[in-house]
Amino acid sequence: MIIDLRSDTVTKPCKGMLKAMVAAETGDDVYKEDPTVNALEKRVAELFGMESALFFPTGSMANQAAIKLQTQPGEQLICDKWAHVYNYEGGGVSFNSGVSCKLIDGYRGMVTAAQVEENINPPDFYHSPLTSLVCLENTTNKGGGACYNLEEMREIRAVCDRHGLGLHLDGARLVNALVANNENPKDYGKIFDTISICFSKGLGIPLGTVLVGKESLMKNAIRVRKTLGGGMRQVGYIAAAGLYALDNNLERLVEDHRRASELAQTLQEQRYVLKVETTETNIVIFYLQESVSEEKFIADLLKKNIRISDMGQGKLRIVTHLDYTEKMHQRFTDVLRDL
Ligand SMILES: *Cc1c(COP(=O)(O)O)cnc(C)c1O
Repeated sequence: MIIDLRSDTVTKPCKGMLKAMVAAETGDDVYKEDPTVNALEKRVAELFGMESALFFPTGSMANQAAIKLQTQPGEQLICDKWAHVYNYEGGGVSFNSGVSCKLIDGYRGMVTAAQVEENINPPDFYHSPLTSLVCLENTTNKGGGACYNLEEMREIRAVCDRHGLGLHLDGARLVNALVANNENPKDYGKIFDTISICFSKGLGIPLGTVLVGKESLMKNAIRVRKTLGGGMRQVGYIAAAGLYALDNNLERLVEDHRRASELAQTLQEQRYVLKVETTETNIVIFYLQESVSEEKFIADLLKKNIRISDMGQGKLRIVTHLDYTEKMHQRFTDVLRDL
């Protein structure tokens, strides 16, 4: 039994999902003739109460397209210093859009409306780049699955409206926030101009992210996706997994959150653990006592067929997911107590 908790991207389709995939009706999606992709896009747009949706191969590409759609070269976007768009998309912000990032020193990957407003360059001061977009992340990845408060996001929207800025949400794990806080996706549709929603994390499909947004922006999204090399053909086989996931894998995220919270509790009780970050969703970030080496700790777990992530600077990360079963949970908990 291998227990892989490095990420929620390691899941594999279950029998039911595979069955749905094999049965999919497909067509050439570059011609927009794949009925299953079209159905998934329609369903996700409706779920968020947004006008339009487009299926992308990866979350990074969906974010990069959203940035491209809402900026011009030379302009600047505002994001937290830990943002995925800044740290983990290969410099795509500058490569694809010619845009720079103004980094905010936020709390657990989240920024406040006041911080956003302070970091907008005065539009008539032509020496500095023109601020045109704000990118938020919910839940935060590097911030350990932390969730934004809806009211804070509404205030950030108000700041964006006052200054004529676009507002994008990197919702790689938005489904976790929705379930954890019992939120209505339509509230997000009212706040953001574009939202990317990953299906290859908590929802457990092999690949794919849906970008939803306002029609005025999204009408150009298919061209940007093509430019980035993301036009796919009979991708309905994957979209079918997405539809299956919305029916079967959404509500069950509470299980992932419960297990993450129990692991956080167990870790907290161990002598070798210095600190565990607040665990709100499916990510647990913790630090070992100074006398314990992270390398050795990870190697010891590996000997027991358990994998976790080293995020650097003493940060260790566990991510629970669909393929982390109750039996694995019992075993891992026992191992943590015995170490
Ligand atoms: C995983 C993730 C993405 C998308 O990553 P891909 O590997 O391109 O699918 C985007 N944002 C955040 C916060 C993520 O955790």
